[in-house]
Amino acid sequence: MAPKLDSSLFERIGDGIFVLDRLWTYVYVNAAGARLVGRSVDELVGRVVWEVFPEAVGSAFERNFRYAADNQELVEFEDYFPPLDRWYAIRVFPSADGLTIVLRDSSARHVADRALEALLAQSRREQRLAAVLAETNEAVFRATSPQELFDAAVRIAVDHGGFVMSWIGILDPGTGDIAHVASAGEGADEYLAVARVTSRDGPYGRGVAGLALRSGAPMCSNDILEDDNMAPWRGPAARVGYRSSGAFPLIVGGDVAGLMSVYAAEPRYFDTEEISLVRRLAANVSYGWESLLREAALRDSEVARRTEQRFREVLSAAPTAILGVGGHRCVEFANGEAGRLFARPSARLVGERVDALLHPIADGPGIEGLITELETDPRPITETTQLCGRRGDDSAFPAEVAVSRVGGEAQGGLVLVSVHDLSERLELEAARRLRALEAERERADRLDSLGKLAGGVAHDFNNLLGIILNYTTLLERHLDDAQVRSDLNKIRVAAQRGAELTRQLLTFARRDPATPKPIDVNESVRSVAAMLDRGLGPGVELVLQLAAEPLVAVIDRQQLDQVILNLVLNARDAMPGGGRVLVSTAPASAAAGRAAGPPHGETVEIRVSDTGFGMTPEVAARAFEPFFTTKPRGQGTGLGLAAVYGIVERSGGRATIDSTPAIGTTVTVELPRCDTDAQPGPPAPPLSTPVSGREECVLLVEDDEDLREATKRILRGAGFRVLDADDGIAALEVFAANREVISVVLSDVIMPRMRGDELARVLGTRAPELRVVLMTGHDSGEVPLSEPVLRKPVDEERLVRALREVLDA
Ligand code: ADP
Ligand code: MG
Repeated sequence: MAPKLDSSLFERIGDGIFVLDRLWTYVYVNAAGARLVGRSVDELVGRVVWEVFPEAVGSAFERNFRYAADNQELVEFEDYFPPLDRWYAIRVFPSADGLTIVLRDSSARHVADRALEALLAQSRREQRLAAVLAETNEAVFRATSPQELFDAAVRIAVDHGGFVMSWIGILDPGTGDIAHVASAGEGADEYLAVARVTSRDGPYGRGVAGLALRSGAPMCSNDILEDDNMAPWRGPAARVGYRSSGAFPLIVGGDVAGLMSVYAAEPRYFDTEEISLVRRLAANVSYGWESLLREAALRDSEVARRTEQRFREVLSAAPTAILGVGGHRCVEFANGEAGRLFARPSARLVGERVDALLHPIADGPGIEGLITELETDPRPITETTQLCGRRGDDSAFPAEVAVSRVGGEAQGGLVLVSVHDLSERLELEAARRLRALEAERERADRLDSLGKLAGGVAHDFNNLLGIILNYTTLLERHLDDAQVRSDLNKIRVAAQRGAELTRQLLTFARRDPATPKPIDVNESVRSVAAMLDRGLGPGVELVLQLAAEPLVAVIDRQQLDQVILNLVLNARDAMPGGGRVLVSTAPASAAAGRAAGPPHGETVEIRVSDTGFGMTPEVAARAFEPFFTTKPRGQGTGLGLAAVYGIVERSGGRATIDSTPAIGTTVTVELPRCDTDAQPGPPAPPLSTPVSGREECVLLVEDDEDLREATKRILRGAGFRVLDADDGIAALEVFAANREVISVVLSDVIMPRMRGDELARVLGTRAPELRVVLMTGHDSGEVPLSEPVLRKPVDEERLVRALREVLDA
């Protein structure tokens, strides 16, 4: 059965159905239709559409209805009808009689659609936001430098944030200017080449960037072309197609440090959502920038910490004790060596006053003085100074200290005090000095015992030689045979050489009779040189270099001559191929603290230098020993330097050898300088013609019987009468018995019972006018002799002359 088609069917469906005739008059409207357009059926049927809904005229509704009617085509459309605030989905069926319109209210669906759309838009935004934030987070995480971070951020703003262009600038806090450091997007280079920005107020500071910099808050311009504040950038923005612009401050450590700018091609781009998106982007960049800066600072401080650590390690490992002393003269740090030196943990040195650790020596400078000195001195370090260090147990040590400034500035700052323990060095030095002293004493002792031995032998020898000589003289007178006389003369010459040897030996033993007087050594050198005027031999030159002033020493004149002569002759012997002997004299001051030699004071120095073959150290060490010689038998006696030694030592001086094999030798003789203005004694009187006795009576006193006998005969032969005695006591008896006849006494010095000098003293009280001549081969050195002394062995000529002088005076 076919369904019944009548209008009751339409009444039951929900869609609105309107049937219009060709004159736009409603001919039928179902109930749903009337309800959907908010009218009753009666209000519609029989009336013209455009009259009921005049608002529809000119709308999409009219256009679509007419189109369907005109073209007899089905039209479907959906539109909003504002008077009823409804959306309608409409199908228009044309026919020859008019139109049938089926209408459905689609408002509910539309609300849902719009909500969905909004939702989608929101989610797209959120996705963008999420993408931007994720990217910036990653960029912050990845960036190893602010530049990398900035480059990534502007790229993210363009690629993920949907901006045409973005740039970042850094604020120069000094000038207030902004320097572009990163940019991305279209037209960036062109725009930024001309777009100047500053944070200062003024035309270039009033755009969004300037405002954002000054306020610290984001600023946007939603239409650059209309915004008067953006006037300076309008031209460039128009050229590259930017309409909206936003500026977001970058904050580091609470201060505006830079700026992130973004541009959109559309006007009114920045709504609250957009602003919050970029704000978060900028916040991320700020955070990343700040942490990079913090990391860098941390790295720097780590480097500094490690450098300091290293410095401390070097300092504490330094082999020198070092104290760092601060402005209050207190130790601020001390290294390990300092702890060891001051015998306490180095940490316990910290805080100590430096002057409690280092004391001045005697009235020398203290550590305080040294530090103060450095503060006014341009030098970075003081001279080393000796101070007294105090250990933890209060013991002291000799310290060598230098103060240096740290970092070029000492004023109130830190100074370094470096301390060396001198104990070891001083001990070594003392030990060395002691050894040298001992060696010198040993040498002196050896020479001294040699001297005693030699002196004893020589004394006895001298008397023997005296006898030989006297008897040769006596014998000679009674001999006519020329041959025998010549033989006898040979004996005499040999005896004279023997006498010379014993004399030198006695000189070395310091038992040689001597008469010290103030003598100008220059004078002595000149006379010796004159004596050598025939020269020293082929090719040997003698050069004198004498001090201009007189150099007076108290010494026996003959002996001084002998010293110089011996040294010059040795020099000559050392130069068989020729060379130069230099004799120089000079005043000098004896060095203090010397092992031996003259006491501290002025000395006279005589140097004899040669260019000869020199001495090995072994030879030099023994050269002063008597009988030590390197010369062939018969040429050297080994007594030359021994005599020099004896004479110089006796005068309170000292002789030293400085010699280098193949280079030459210098012997230096130092004598105490006589600083009184005592005049040098007159030169020795010239020898005169032979003299003889005139029957005067001589009392001869001599304990050696043979010598006494020989001497007696010599004196008688020379024209004297002779009485004799064998010692002082006997002599006094002889004198008492023959007082009237005795004109002069000739006496030996060393004798048993009473010595010659004592005899002279006693006779001096009994017969003050009686003259006594002493003779000796051996000066004990105990008693200075006031009488003229003859040196044994005495030959006839000297003996007679001495007696003659005394008798004629
Ligand atoms: P002599 O000259 O009789 O050998 P000395 O006592 O004068 O005795 O000297 C001892 C030794 O010292 C010499 O044999 C010689 O070896 C050495 N001597 C002394 N003077 C010099 C000198 N000027 N140059 C080199 N050697 C010297
Ligand atoms: Mg000699």
